[in-house]
Amino acid sequence: MKLSIKEIEREVLLILLANLVKIKIIRQIGIKVAEKKLWKKIIEDTKYNYPAGVQEDKYYFAVAYLNALARGIKKGLISEKVLTNLAPVIDKIYANNDKEIAFEESHGFKAPQFLTISPTKACNLKCKGCYASSSDFTRNKLDYGLIIKIITEQRELWGRHFTVISGGEPFVYRDNGKDIIDLAAEFPDHLFLVYTNGTLISKKVAARLADIGNITPAISVEGFERETDERRGEGTFKKILAAMENLREVGVPFGLSVTATRNNYKTVVSDEFYEYFMDQQGAIYAWIFHYMPIGRSFTVDLMPTPEERLYMWMRERELVREQKRLLADFWNGGPLSNGCICSGRPRTGYFHIDWNGNIMPCVFIPYYTHNIKNIYQSGDNLNSILSCPFYDDLRKWHHSYIDGRPPEKMGNMLAECAIRDHNPMLKRIVQKNGAHSEDEAATQAISDPEYAKRMRQYGRRLKQIMDPIWETYYQKRKLVYKEYN
Ligand code: SF4
Repeated sequence: MKLSIKEIEREVLLILLANLVKIKIIRQIGIKVAEKKLWKKIIEDTKYNYPAGVQEDKYYFAVAYLNALARGIKKGLISEKVLTNLAPVIDKIYANNDKEIAFEESHGFKAPQFLTISPTKACNLKCKGCYASSSDFTRNKLDYGLIIKIITEQRELWGRHFTVISGGEPFVYRDNGKDIIDLAAEFPDHLFLVYTNGTLISKKVAARLADIGNITPAISVEGFERETDERRGEGTFKKILAAMENLREVGVPFGLSVTATRNNYKTVVSDEFYEYFMDQQGAIYAWIFHYMPIGRSFTVDLMPTPEERLYMWMRERELVREQKRLLADFWNGGPLSNGCICSGRPRTGYFHIDWNGNIMPCVFIPYYTHNIKNIYQSGDNLNSILSCPFYDDLRKWHHSYIDGRPPEKMGNMLAECAIRDHNPMLKRIVQKNGAHSEDEAATQAISDPEYAKRMRQYGRRLKQIMDPIWETYYQKRKLVYKEYN
């Protein structure tokens, strides 16, 4: 039996909640016992089908998760009210439910894990290199009723209770007098991760978030004040700090959303960065995204190079394992999700519905063949996207790269990204399926021979750098229990 991220998270949360119930305040001894249990569960008792190092990464991530939540609770960063509200939501997310099982029985594969919805393209900022090219001038948005329908189907057809909200700036969204907090309040058995620039999280907004208890904001930072204001506009950093204070005061757990570029890659994996944002400002988690050459004024030159990516991988490993920081890098952390999760990959995957209703394999693949409004007009539902040829081709690639291979021959999960690390493959599939570009930048990217050449070179160099790491630290890894303080 393979142990998925979902099952690991469930273990972590169950142990944590059990500790909470029993001793109320997490004590170090409780955590140590829980860590050993996780090792047994994730490493020893599991007949997993992934290379040993992949399971090992999941174990250390689970330990960091456990410790981050415990620290957050101990410091009062997660209020009792939010915890009480979250408990039944977590149960829904992590317990195998009838709808999930029914989906698998009728389709022959597991439902995707979650959805990302971008309700609006509008944003109150105009950040350099924004992948969504958002600004204050655009009015593109989804109807409130449409979003309700999508999330209801996600819950009813897939049995899934986790939705990511992106954008645009989600807290700018309004339709029929409703905002994103009203939306979350309609789904009390659901958890929402909201990517936000944070500048609109006033005391009043924070109080509403505390009240519903099922949204966690991931606030964008690029480094410290200089780097953040340089990309997002002067004064943004101070507004972000105010938002963090507002959330801390009412016990709403929040995290960071960090875009790593060639300019800030060392800063965002430095000890100082996490000491500041996690220890001082109270962020519970950090999700690191590497700059992707799509969207506004895209350039291949801002992507961290393969060598810089390796540097980040080494630092991230220290931060997670030795300091128990809850952080995931969505590229270097490929082993945590068993590789790329685009196109609704069964069990771990997702897809992205944007402000126009266009359905894209992932937030960073700006090409589509279907629109949710047309799907609903033709009387179909969310499932129809899972059988479309575009997604089918991408999932076949997942299968040929990872799922259809024995562990010793699996493709490198540190070089797993369909659009960035395997750009020629993605381009072939986009063109074969006649997928439309989301915007002018996406058209330019797919038709520019120079772009294609540089992405191909990037993929080749990354393979040269990361294949020896994959072999040594993942495929040939011998697992030994090691306890860090
Ligand atoms: S295509 Fe890249 S960015 Fe998108 S889900 Fe796959 S690995 Fe992540």
